[in-house]
Amino acid sequence: MSCAAAASPRTPNAARARARMVARLRNQLIRDERVLAAMAAIPRHQFVEKGLAFNAYDDSALPIGLQQTISQPYVVARMIEILCKDRELGRTLEIGAGCGYQAAVLSMLASEVYAIERLRVLLDRARENLRTLRLPNLRLKCGDGTQGLPEAAPFDTIIVAAGGLTVPPALKEQLAPEGRLLIPVGNVDQRLMLIERQGNSFRESWHEAVRFVPLLTGTE
Ligand code: SAH
Repeated sequence: MSCAAAASPRTPNAARARARMVARLRNQLIRDERVLAAMAAIPRHQFVEKGLAFNAYDDSALPIGLQQTISQPYVVARMIEILCKDRELGRTLEIGAGCGYQAAVLSMLASEVYAIERLRVLLDRARENLRTLRLPNLRLKCGDGTQGLPEAAPFDTIIVAAGGLTVPPALKEQLAPEGRLLIPVGNVDQRLMLIERQGNSFRESWHEAVRFVPLLTGTE
């Protein structure tokens, strides 16, 4: 059941729908209270098309235009939980800003967030979605995220919201010495790969099965 109000983020219905979403995330074994608080704080219905606002707090991915999707709440929460286990997110880079939702959640937990999106039209929508939230530590950029963001590197955390068959080398290079990178890898059997840098060595581990839109190159 979902009854998120399409109106203001402060409407009781939206707040109730968000509280139910957080309760569901607890049932799905998201344990990090910092992550749950950030998910409770960001009005997800502000990031989806008006006609879909009633479904904004369902546990599903939703279309955001240009054949892209806002990730389902569980995947957003789980990815961030993996990245901040036993640490802070610190300086964070997000590849694939889409509608800006995950970037907003990250901004509640990270010292700084740089979010890159390759589609200009989507980036403009993200800016509009984020305007009223006034998140001073979040910067959005149009660019090809497979190149990372050299001018702002190194990053303690890099989170990729689109999947490919390989890990772009620039992203590993732009990790800080103790940095963590989480990226969906694979085609049909896509899974989250965590890469933890320790100096010049990189430890890889596999996490949940996921289904993300393709990580492409260039900008449009
Ligand atoms: N985090 C987003 C999910 C967006 S879906 C949210 O909360 O809504 C993934 C996004 O990655 C799409 O918008 C797609 O255009 C973008 N993308 C794909 N390849 C990219 C690349 N190389 N650089 C930047 N963005 C990319």
